This record gives sequence, structure tokens and C-alpha cells, in this order.
Amino acid sequence: MPNIVVQKFGGTSLSDTDRFKAVAKIIKDTSEKGKKVVAVVSAMAGETQRLIDLAKEVQEIPDPREYDALISSGEQVSVALLAMTLRNEKVNSKSYTAFQLGLRTDDYHGKARINSIDTKNILKDISADITPVITGFQGINEEGDITTLGRGGSDTSAVALAVALGAEECQIYTDVDGVYTTDPNVYEKAKKIDKLTFEEMLELSSLGAKVLQIRSVEFASKYNMPIRVKSSFTNNEGTLINGEENMEDALISGVTHTSDDAKLTIRKVPDIPGIAAKILDPISSQGIEVDIIIQNVSEDKTTDFTFTVKREKSQETKNILSNLSKEFGGGEIELNEDISKVSLVGVGMKSHAGVAATMFKTLADKNINIEMISTSEIKISVVVKEDLAHEAVKSLHDAFNLEK
Ligand code: ASP
Ligand code: MG
Repeated sequence: MPNIVVQKFGGTSLSDTDRFKAVAKIIKDTSEKGKKVVAVVSAMAGETQRLIDLAKEVQEIPDPREYDALISSGEQVSVALLAMTLRNEKVNSKSYTAFQLGLRTDDYHGKARINSIDTKNILKDISADITPVITGFQGINEEGDITTLGRGGSDTSAVALAVALGAEECQIYTDVDGVYTTDPNVYEKAKKIDKLTFEEMLELSSLGAKVLQIRSVEFASKYNMPIRVKSSFTNNEGTLINGEENMEDALISGVTHTSDDAKLTIRKVPDIPGIAAKILDPISSQGIEVDIIIQNVSEDKTTDFTFTVKREKSQETKNILSNLSKEFGGGEIELNEDISKVSLVGVGMKSHAGVAATMFKTLADKNINIEMISTSEIKISVVVKEDLAHEAVKSLHDAFNLEK
């Protein structure tokens, strides 16, 4: 239905009852502009983590069903409190949990995927001028057990609801006023970006910009639902993310860096067909995601094979490699956790050559050694020493004039 706007408020926008009043005010103002607001909320700031810690005090590996029942409860507090606050502001409102609504997921506890949303109650409320307030993060499986969508999952709840309702836009309210050209904590010249494509946002979120749960962007992209990230503290325009590419799109939208990658090298691998599959198969079958891969040219019929994985998986990967290397008579395994992946992202790259050259030159001028390189149509990533990552980010931000 046109005219519907989904507004999602995260924990930082709901840290105390004064913040609930500020949020109610935003919803009221939007409604007074003729929009039908459907609100989605997270737990109050810090609450989900508190519940997770409690669970771990009781059970080292918590029972999945009870774990979800526990950690989803913060959202139930938020919806009821917000509905009450809205009523104080003379906005008629009603709270819903996923169960009450009928937000159905698969039964993968802790990381469930949404299957369907029953919009009947919401549509009825809207036409009666009632503002529905819905729990983010939670769903129910076929048995009616509570499930959760993974940390940060309220973003995905909001986008899914917006899609199910045919909303105009899904607005994600947070404590920053949008997506930035780089992490403002790393570089004070970081600037808010006005507009991004889904593709760019997907790259930015997977590369370390933590504003949105990545699944929410995938969802929005699939159904072409515009997302607007904005601050509940300032309520200005924020960053609009949609499917539109245009001529004036910036060459580079942002520069990111990671601090959770590790690099592994297996030396003296026989340079024969099938060796890459032999190395990577046992790793991916453990659910370990391999990112940048380099296989060097061989001189003596053996080669070095290098790739990156998430740091939390580095020891596990090293063990797999050690066994493999013994199997085919390979050499040493080297593990390096002191690395960072620095990336440039921008749709404008599609139609411009020379971005990579400028990037490499900039890093060279700073004497920053590039250990690995990977490129896609709208992204160039390099692996550098972790303690040089901030300097790399700053110099690239300057070189591509991102503060303009
Ligand atoms: N409250 C949940 C979390 O902290 C979901 C969310 O905030 O999106 O992960
Ligand atoms: Mg969040």
C-alpha cells in the first residue's frame, strides 16, 4: 500500500523512557504528514547482550529453543513500552510480538530466515488509524516456537515487513545520521553519504561498515525496497539506499577496513590440476568462508597457495591445512593474523579505468606494502598490515576526495 512507511528503531534510540518519547514524537510527526507508520523495534540498548550473557551463565551451550525464547524477550518489552508512550502522545497504538502477528520463519534457531508475514492485523489497524508496533528480531517456526534472526536482525524484520506491506520506504533509525564515507572514528574527515545503490551498500556492509545487518540489504535489493538510514537524534535526511544508478554516481562512495581477517599460506604445494579444490573443499565443508585467494606461479613444480578467512576460524583452518599438507607432501603452513583488508567501493568504478592504479600509487607513496589484491566490478580490496590500515584508509580518503 502506498503511503505506508516502516520505521525501525534500534536499541540506541531506545535507551530510556525519554528516548521512547523522542521516538514516539518522530512517529507522530510522520503520521501528521499523512503517512501510515508501522513501527518495528529492537530491544533497549544493551538488553540483548545482557540476556545472552545470562544464558551463558546457566548453560555453556544453551538449549536453542529456550535461548531464542530468552534473547527475544527484550523486543517484547520495547513494543509494549512504545505503544504506551504513543498513547500518551495521543497516537492510538497496538503492540505485536511475532507470534501475535504471524511472522513465520524456518526453525534454524539463532539465525532463522523469514518465510512469511501475515499482514491482516496490521492492515486492519492502519485503516482504523492505529499505529502497529512490532517486535523486530523474532519470529515463530512451524511449531509456534520462538526463533530469532541473528544479531542485528531487526533491520531484516523491518525490511521484510516493508516488502510484505508494499511500503514506500523502510526507514532505519539509529544513532548516526547515515552511512559514512569511512568510519568517523578512524578519520574525522568522514562524510555522510546521501545516496547509495544496494550493490554498494552490500559491499560496504560486508567489508566492515556496521550500520545495517547485511541480510536486510540483500532482502531490500531482491524486492527493490528503498532503505533510508537516519538518526533518531537529529532526524535529518539520512542516507537513501535504492536500486537506482545514475550518471552522477560518485566514482568512489566509501573506503572500509576490516579487523577480523587472517591470512594463511601453504608452502610447496604440488602444481597440478585439482590442487586448489583439494585445499579448499575440506575448508568450505567445515562452513569456513574463504575470501581473497592467491596462487603464485611455480618455478620448481610447486607453488605457494595463500588465502584469507575470518580470524575466528584461523586456527581451525590451520589445522585442516596441516593435515592436508602432510597428505600430499606439501610444506609449512603460515598463519598471519596481523592483517587488514582495505577496500574502495563505488558504482562509478564500472565506467572508469584507473581507480586501481591511483589506489596502488597512493599506498606506495605512503610506503604501505600490498600483500594481496582482489577486485570486482564495484570494489577493489587490498590486504595490508593491520597497524597500517588506518593510515591506508586516510590516505585513500584524501586521494579520492571523499570529504567533498
Ligand atoms: N536486539 C537484537 C540485537 O541486539 C536485534 C537488533 O537489535 O536488531 O541483536
Ligand atoms: Mg542494529
